[in-house]
Amino acid sequence: MPRIAIGEISHETNTFSPPTTLAMFRDRLWVRGEALLERFRGVRSYLGGMIEEAERRQIRVVPTFAASTEPWGTITREAYDAMLGELLDGLRRAMPLDAVCLALHGAGVAEGVPDLESAVLEAVRGVVGPDLPIAVTLDLHGNLHPRMADLATGLFSVHEYPHTDAHERGQEAMAFLLRVLDRGLRPAAWIETLPLLVPPSPSVLDPARSINELCLRWEATPGVIDCAFVHGFVATDVGDVGASVIATAEADRDLARRAAQAVAAEIWARRQAFQVSHPQPAEAVSRALTLAAGGGPVVINETSDNPGGGTPGDGTHLLRAMVLAGLTDSVYGTLYDPEVAARCHEAGVGARLRVRLGGKHDRLHGDPLDLEVYVKSLSDGRFRLSTPMARGTPVNLGKTARLACEGLEIIVASVRTQVLDPEPFALHGIDVRRCRIVGLKSSAHFRAGFEGIARHIVTTDPPGISTSNVAQYPYRRLRRPIYPLDRHATYVPRADAPA
Ligand SMILES: [Zn+2]
Repeated sequence: MPRIAIGEISHETNTFSPPTTLAMFRDRLWVRGEALLERFRGVRSYLGGMIEEAERRQIRVVPTFAASTEPWGTITREAYDAMLGELLDGLRRAMPLDAVCLALHGAGVAEGVPDLESAVLEAVRGVVGPDLPIAVTLDLHGNLHPRMADLATGLFSVHEYPHTDAHERGQEAMAFLLRVLDRGLRPAAWIETLPLLVPPSPSVLDPARSINELCLRWEATPGVIDCAFVHGFVATDVGDVGASVIATAEADRDLARRAAQAVAAEIWARRQAFQVSHPQPAEAVSRALTLAAGGGPVVINETSDNPGGGTPGDGTHLLRAMVLAGLTDSVYGTLYDPEVAARCHEAGVGARLRVRLGGKHDRLHGDPLDLEVYVKSLSDGRFRLSTPMARGTPVNLGKTARLACEGLEIIVASVRTQVLDPEPFALHGIDVRRCRIVGLKSSAHFRAGFEGIARHIVTTDPPGISTSNVAQYPYRRLRRPIYPLDRHATYVPRADAPA
C-alpha cells in the first residue's frame, strides 16, 4: 500500500500591507501530524479533498504539517523558516514515501523569498529527492514562475472563482498520484505566463467563464490530465505578478505546452475584457436602492477593502455612504474594529454608545466614522462556514457586536475577514433574506455563499489595496511591460527549453 504524505503552506501575500508574522499563522492554522487529519476530515478544502480521496481508496496518508492565515503583508523570515522547517521535519519523519501531495497557494511572498511556492518545492525536493512524484494544488490567484512546473510532477489549480472546487482539486491531485504510481506514468507539466494583470474576475461571468470552457475542452483531449487558467494576484509587488496557464499531460511535455499556449493566446486576445471599472460607494448605494425597489436583498460588495486579499478590513468608504443614505432594513458587516467590539462587550447588550468606528489602519481606506449606536447583541464570533466553497471550516472572529444605527445594523468583528456567506449575520440573529441592502467586504467569494439569496449584486471600488483598478498600485518591482499598464505589451509564446 503506497504511503503518500500531505501538507500545506498557504498564504496570499499583499505586499502593500504590513508584515505577516509567525503569531498570525499560529493563531489561524498551525497543525502537525494526526491533528491535521482531525482538522480537515469532512471539511471542503484542498486537504479535505486529499484525505477523502485517499481514505476512499484505502491509501495510507501521512499527515505532516499545515499552516495558513488570512492574506496580509510579506511573511517574516522567522515565520517562513518556522513553517518550512515544520513541513520538512514532517516529511523526514514520514520517509520512506511513495509520493507527496501539497496544498500551496501560488501568491506567497516572504522576506527575501519572492516566489515562496517554488522555494518550498525546491526544499521539499531536497528531502524527498528528484524523482518522487509530487502533486500540488494551487489557488487561481497565484503568480507562478515556470520553474514550478519542473519541480512538481502535476499542478492542480482551482478552476472556479469563488473557489468552490478546492475540495475536488484536492481529490484530483491525490487520484493523479495514485495513477502515476499504479501505471508508472511520467507526467509533464507546463506553465505559460502572460504579461497581463487580471483584476478579480469571477469565473461565473465572462470572460473568465469562456476561458474555463476552453480549458475543459483541452482537458478532454487524450493525454491531457489538467489545464487551468490561473488569474494571478495583482496586489503584490514582485517580478512575476500576472496571469498564467498551467497544463499537465500524461507523458508528453509538448502536449502540455500546446494546451497551455493555446489557452494563453485566447486570454491574450481578450485581455481588454478583463479590465473593469466599478462605481464609487455613493453611486453604488443609489443603484442598489433602485434595484431593491423590485425586492431585496441587494448585495453591495466593497472589492477594494477585501480582507481576503490582504487589506485592513476597517475601511469605511462603503459604510459611510450607507450611513449617509439613511438606509432602512439594511445591514453591513463585518467591519474590523477590535477596540469598538471590546467596548461594546464591556457596555453590554442594550447600551447606547458614541463610537469612533473603523478607519484606524490608514486614511486610504476611509476616515473613522463617529456614530451613536445601540448594542443589539454580542457574540464570541465562532461559527462554521456554510458556503459551498469551504463548508464546515471553523471561523473565529473574536468578540463581535451587532450595532443598530437608525435603520442600519452593523456587525463589528475583532478579526479581519472576508464575508463568505450569511453566517456572520446569522450569528447575530439577522436573516439577510429579509434585508433591503447588505454591504460587505469581498471581491467575488461572497457570490458562492449568497447564491440564491442576493437578488442583485453591485460592486463598488473606492480607494483601497485590493482595488480592481490596477493603475492605482504603486508597483516598483513588477516586471514591465505588462498590460494594461503598458498598452504596447505583447505576449510571445515561450519556447521549450532543451531537456
Ligand atoms: Zn484565490
